[in-house]
Amino acid sequence: MALLVMKFGGTSVADLDRIRNVAMHVKREVDAGNRCAVVVSAMAGQTNQLVEWTRGASSIHDAREYDAVLASGEQVTSGLLAITLQSLGITARSWLGWQIPIRTNNDHGIARIEAIEAGNLRERINDGEVAVIAGFQGIGPNGRITTLGRGGSDTSAVAIAAALGADCCDIYTDVDGVYTTDPRIVPKSQRIDKIAYEEMLEMASLGAKVLQTRSVEMAMVHRVSVRVRSSFDDPDSCPAVGSAGSAIVPGTLVCDEDDILEQRVVSGIAYAKDEAKITLLGVADKPGVAAKVFGPLADSNVNVDMIVQNVSADGTSTDMTFTVPAGDFERSRRVLESARDKIGYTDLRGALDIVKVSIIGVGMRSHAGVAAQMFSALADKGINIEAISTSEIKISVLIDAAYAELAVRTLHSLYGLDAE
Ligand code: ADP
Ligand code: ASP
Ligand code: MG
Repeated sequence: MALLVMKFGGTSVADLDRIRNVAMHVKREVDAGNRCAVVVSAMAGQTNQLVEWTRGASSIHDAREYDAVLASGEQVTSGLLAITLQSLGITARSWLGWQIPIRTNNDHGIARIEAIEAGNLRERINDGEVAVIAGFQGIGPNGRITTLGRGGSDTSAVAIAAALGADCCDIYTDVDGVYTTDPRIVPKSQRIDKIAYEEMLEMASLGAKVLQTRSVEMAMVHRVSVRVRSSFDDPDSCPAVGSAGSAIVPGTLVCDEDDILEQRVVSGIAYAKDEAKITLLGVADKPGVAAKVFGPLADSNVNVDMIVQNVSADGTSTDMTFTVPAGDFERSRRVLESARDKIGYTDLRGALDIVKVSIIGVGMRSHAGVAAQMFSALADKGINIEAISTSEIKISVLIDAAYAELAVRTLHSLYGLDAE
């Protein structure tokens, strides 16, 4: 008998038929004798609708009330799934974040889970009850509902798996695993059987939204074995976890690097369209200038990502280009404009039509020349690189958004990731 966490995303619970399908996946595990905690997202599109409503009510709104509204989507699906399971003769109960409780910090809208007091939940699961948990939510230090950031149900699931010491955490979604790149834009992408935590972390943080970045961070820290698989597979023909044949279910295991025998140089390609570029022209080229630019941005909680600095021909001034999250663009512009006299620049230019394309792979640690190959392949397609950033296991380039798909496809072929 295994203790499982099963998480179902928005498209997997999009309507009553889909919820019934989810219930059949759960029933299969219950019938095989497994204990289950099931984490659900809101119905597909529902959270976007709720965001729209809060904005419609007032463009400036209290983050605590934003969370009160946003958390409601998962309340609906957890209740509906519990009802559906009960109708199949399965003992099931819904749990909201505060009822467990899942304790978070006070950062409404993007709260971090700090502790899960899982005693009560564990007892009920051990008694054979299926716990249907509303994902994406917790309770803050002031007793108010918090939400965990978009895509946060993945993090709820991994956190519950860690708190319960579950044998595995299956993330059911609308694709049958993690692919070498987003299968929606590259039909030739391939499912990856096993991906290292570090690679998955980079893939997620660089734009592959199949898992929320924090969920991967948490899985890595707590060594939770996460498997991404499809809820669209026929529930009756999938083998239950722990049964003969369960290893052949198509999916991707996120695991330790050492558990992967065959390692590619580049495992995946990610792209992110949610960054904005800011260029400050004519900044004095002297010590302390970078601190004057990035200090006020840091004080306003803006995360600066890629940074490029060019020295001008006369060597006295420089142009500084960097990226910030697109959602922080206007705020960053205001911060920099009000610090203009202190920084001393001649002009500020901004652009939102840019994309960051990244190649990721732990194999890069031991291979030279990967970057050079990437840059020349992009040059051959006439794609101009506006900024570069690297780490041991990834290289990211900033390019014009119009070339996003071409760049992803080109790199996907270049590193031998295309399916036959
Ligand atoms: P859920 O609602 O189940 O949480 P998401 O929409 O958050 O699902 O994540 C699944 C989607 O992630 C897929 O439909 C796919 O388009 C997208 N995606 C982006 N990059 C990848 C990738 N490398 N592998 C698989 N899916 C990816
Ligand atoms: N419903 C939330 C969202 O759409 C959380 C999630 O789906 O994981 O972001
Ligand atoms: Mg998701």
